[in-house]
Amino acid sequence: MFIFNDEEMNLYKQIKDVINQNYETWQSYSGCSQQIMRTFAKEGVNVADFQKVIQHKKLDVMGMTIMIYEIAKFNPSLAHKIATTNFGFCYPLIKYGTDEQMSLYLPSIISGEREGVLGCNENATDVRSILYKKEDAFVVKGSKTMLTNVREADYALTLVTSGEAAKDLVSNTSNMSVVIIEINHQAVNLGETEVTMGLNKLKIADMDIRDYPITPVNILKALGEGGNIIMDTTNLMRLSNAAISLGICENAYNTVHKYFKEYGKEKLENYELIQYELAQMKADIEWLRLGVFYLARLFSGDKKRDLLPCSVVKLQVTENAKKICNKCIELVGRTSCYDENILSQAFRDIRIMTILGGHTSKIKNYISLNFYR
Ligand SMILES: Cc1cc2nc3c(=O)[nH]c(=O)nc-3n(C[C@H](O)[C@H](O)[C@H](O)COP(=O)(O)OP(=O)(O)OC[C@H]3O[C@@H](n4cnc5c(N)ncnc54)[C@H](O)[C@@H]3O)c2cc1C
Repeated sequence: MFIFNDEEMNLYKQIKDVINQNYETWQSYSGCSQQIMRTFAKEGVNVADFQKVIQHKKLDVMGMTIMIYEIAKFNPSLAHKIATTNFGFCYPLIKYGTDEQMSLYLPSIISGEREGVLGCNENATDVRSILYKKEDAFVVKGSKTMLTNVREADYALTLVTSGEAAKDLVSNTSNMSVVIIEINHQAVNLGETEVTMGLNKLKIADMDIRDYPITPVNILKALGEGGNIIMDTTNLMRLSNAAISLGICENAYNTVHKYFKEYGKEKLENYELIQYELAQMKADIEWLRLGVFYLARLFSGDKKRDLLPCSVVKLQVTENAKKICNKCIELVGRTSCYDENILSQAFRDIRIMTILGGHTSKIKNYISLNFYR
């Protein structure tokens, strides 16, 4: 239902062509996400042309969203890895980094040799990883939990608090800062790879940091700017969360539709309820697609973005996609219950999408805060 303009349609076609050529390999791919971006770049898909991106200091958000959504239909873990590196790491670096930082951290990511991750989440309700002064140097100490891809990545964009000990550093702004940490440094220790209930091609692990030395090249924008940078990055991540969820539920719907046309033809003909449920799901998916790509278009413009539309779209798409995946299982019944079945995988994947990037309760809490503004 979303109407793409001619330029977007052309890009969509190019992206689909590259995916069709590589679908077999990418279906089970769990390696470096930037290798996928390189394949797109080699086939002339502009969205992955990072030299252009750096020159204009701008990612093609619409193109990236189409790419993430189409890949999520057959490998949501890969789609999330692409989003993490490009939206969670490259985007803030391109937008807020200095030329020195971009030339230090980005070329190896563009060449597909290295990856970046976003390190926000902690085992606490607030950020406790701290930047403080030790003897004459500034260091970071803390731990982050459940980071996508961290064991394979090289850099982590890490949210820290400057806290009391370093308050002389931060002048009068917020006490949050974003620092870039080299994961292979001796001050960084990683936990074991954890297996999650869904998105199980992701490799999740914890990251422990003990007195990591911080110099100006590690600090994004300036000390005290971390809150703004993370809000901006979270906005974009929420768009990708919604695009991935749309891809997951659409794949589940297509599977059920095909099932009834091929194997359950008799049921489809006899039970009106099945026809109506399929029609409702189709209508819901079209509606969700409208939200996702409308938001992507907002990002493609130059206007300052508010967190509210991103939170609304993330909430609506993930929660409704969860209902659709649930309904798909209900319609197909017992054969969807095998562990490896597409529908049972979709059911587990979509459950994670309502948590990842901001728990549904947290998002509702944010939306409700806007009532009083
Ligand atoms: C597969 C996976 C990959 C991930 N990858 C990354 C990554 O790469 N980088 C990263 O930084 N993080 C990552 N995370 C962490 C993820 O972003 C967090 O799980 C998510 O933000 C939710 O935080 P939380 O799990 O700590 O839950 P919380 O937000 O702490 O919520 C826990 C409970 O408290 C309740 N709650 C919390 N806040 C409120 C509120 N304001 N109002 C009402 N109730 C509330 C919720 O209902 C929930 O029941 C990943 C998580 C998963 C599952």
